[in-house]
Amino acid sequence: MRRVTFSRNFTLSLSRTCRCYCKYCAFATHRAHLHAPDEVERLLDEAVKRRAKELLVLTGERPEVNAEVAERLRSYGHEDFTSYVAWACERALERGLLPHTNVGVLDREDLARLREVTASQGLMLESVNPDLEAHRGSPTKHPLRRLETIRAAGELKIPFTSGILVGIGETPEERVEALEALAAVHAEHGHLQEVILQNFVAHPRYYGAEPGEIADAAQRSATEPGAVVAPPEWASEVDLDEMRRLVRACRRLMPDVGVQIPPNLSNWWIALVEEGATDLGGLSANGDHISPEHPFPSPPAMRRQLEARGHALAERLCVYPQYMDGDWMEQGVLDVVKARYWSFIPRRGSGRRAERAIRSELVPRAIERARDGGPLSEDELTALFAERRSEAIEDMRQAADELRAELAGDTVTFVVNRNINVSNVCVVGCAFCGFGQGKRSPAAYEHDRAEFVARVEEAVDFGATELCMQSGIHPDWTLADYEGWLRLAKEVAPQLHLHAYSAMEVDHMCETSGLAPTEVFHRLREAGLGSTPGTAAEVLHDGVRERISPNKLPVARWVEIIEASHAAGLRSTVTVMFGHIEEPCELAEHMRVVRRLQARTGGFTEFVPLSFVPHHTLLGRTHGIEEISREENLKHTAAFRLALGRSVPSLQASWVKMGLDAAAEALRWGVNDLGGTLMEESISRLAGSQHGVRLEPADLVGAAHAAGRPAAERTTLYELRRRYELPVAA
Ligand code: SF4
Repeated sequence: MRRVTFSRNFTLSLSRTCRCYCKYCAFATHRAHLHAPDEVERLLDEAVKRRAKELLVLTGERPEVNAEVAERLRSYGHEDFTSYVAWACERALERGLLPHTNVGVLDREDLARLREVTASQGLMLESVNPDLEAHRGSPTKHPLRRLETIRAAGELKIPFTSGILVGIGETPEERVEALEALAAVHAEHGHLQEVILQNFVAHPRYYGAEPGEIADAAQRSATEPGAVVAPPEWASEVDLDEMRRLVRACRRLMPDVGVQIPPNLSNWWIALVEEGATDLGGLSANGDHISPEHPFPSPPAMRRQLEARGHALAERLCVYPQYMDGDWMEQGVLDVVKARYWSFIPRRGSGRRAERAIRSELVPRAIERARDGGPLSEDELTALFAERRSEAIEDMRQAADELRAELAGDTVTFVVNRNINVSNVCVVGCAFCGFGQGKRSPAAYEHDRAEFVARVEEAVDFGATELCMQSGIHPDWTLADYEGWLRLAKEVAPQLHLHAYSAMEVDHMCETSGLAPTEVFHRLREAGLGSTPGTAAEVLHDGVRERISPNKLPVARWVEIIEASHAAGLRSTVTVMFGHIEEPCELAEHMRVVRRLQARTGGFTEFVPLSFVPHHTLLGRTHGIEEISREENLKHTAAFRLALGRSVPSLQASWVKMGLDAAAEALRWGVNDLGGTLMEESISRLAGSQHGVRLEPADLVGAAHAAGRPAAERTTLYELRRRYELPVAA
């Protein structure tokens, strides 16, 4: 699944007075236009009300060339327009809005002044042709002047957006030349975060009217785009194939730069996303002030269209993740990101609240101690999870692999099982979940007995030994309902091992029955329960839980319930869900809790790292969380093995989360088990995982053999049922 981004913004057209006379522009005026400070404050309050994260400051160029504008600026206490823009940005930052300014060609000094109060800035290159009819009367549209500003922004380390206008009279060759010119500046400074490919559309004139008001009205009423205006004589033709060619050129010339397509200026955006475009730009809550008659499609509408093609729409900030640090941003602006939008900061092991030192010097000794199964300190574990040096990561891998060989041998195990998610109705509302649905949601479901029985029978036909059952937290279910599903499963297939009910579901049973966890487990055991999944653990750190699932049971309760399960003779697995907002030190705490519990009960059969799948979840859509890379995933896998030491001998890789190929690779990173065949999988699939929902035993055996290891089918509790030795070489 590919992630396509957009920024939730609000446009402030601070001044439309402009020194240029571009023929395509319906935005600029040559009369005095300047929002007064109280009007700016009102608009900023409106931006907050409309839940914008970015303030797009859009202006004409050097409006103070107009004497009346200059006079008004002076009366507001500003010697020039840049000072007024900076003032507006400061007021935006105070409200938690991140300013992105697009105010035309600026000199180095003005760029630097704005850098102090903006998260990013932008200037379209537009074209490399210096003689376009459309630019007559606009000296700063000369490509050299514009490239000078773009280059200066790079020298000043300003995260920057640029782009080209397509169809303003340039030739197809010049379009690619313009992209080459941007690629050359980017190669020097690495500051271009995205390149906009904007197809020219002709506008009606708005003499005497305020484009911002027209845009806002169009956006609020979600009107269809206005009547098509015939292109002027100087325009050049553009079609979808040409735009496709330009998307490909961008990807080729600047593979690390986003490609932005305005989704309101043509119906091509979805085809261009398919071609490789990565971003849909800022979707202003108050419309497009440059093309006011073209409202933006709504994010839910775009999300539906993208989902149908296997893509996920996700919010981003105006500053891209790779620039969110002190090198690229002023501390005051970075502080707003840290306070308001911390989840968008890529996980760099720095900690986003109190800064926490990562003691990488501890890593070599920690690896040695872990190789011998010794427990590691919190600082050591934190350093392992935060490690970024490739040699140290390779050392971690080798140590994890050796520990695996010692504790679990070479045989790769798996279980033939079937998942049944009996209902997805859930009242908890975890931000990382794409599965749970409100009772009235059209996507809510609840299997009836016949459906349930059919699924159990399918499991039997498939040769399953285990049935794994988990559901949402259904508000109407009582302990008797949960017992009922177990009994029904046993009635249909008494031979199946029932591995069921997360700690959260058990907590719900306790609440509705008034019984303690031990008594609930006693009842569930009587009804046929064989073992408990160690899910709902997420990260066993209350700070993390409060942020991603505030309604979920706290750590102490999770521990209490799992301990009660072990005390009742029901062994469990234990999981961790990582790769979202958690910090390395919080994973270290998770491992401390797991090891201590295991030292008390010895009840964990296996540890299952579950990497977070963000695409269709709240965290992914609106909090900027991206899927963890394969490399980071594998590194974490090794760190989990080392953190477990000798406490839990089996480490599983989840092919549903990471794909079978990466899971097979994880066999070199400390993993000895590939989990189950599943047959049905809703939780990861609905979060956007595309690694399938079912595997045949032969697939898992094949993956083990391809990794040079023998395989064996096991039961839930790790008795080997059938061995699959490595084929003898011919
Ligand atoms: S993770 Fe579980 S408890 Fe949380 S919303 Fe999803 S189904 Fe409900």
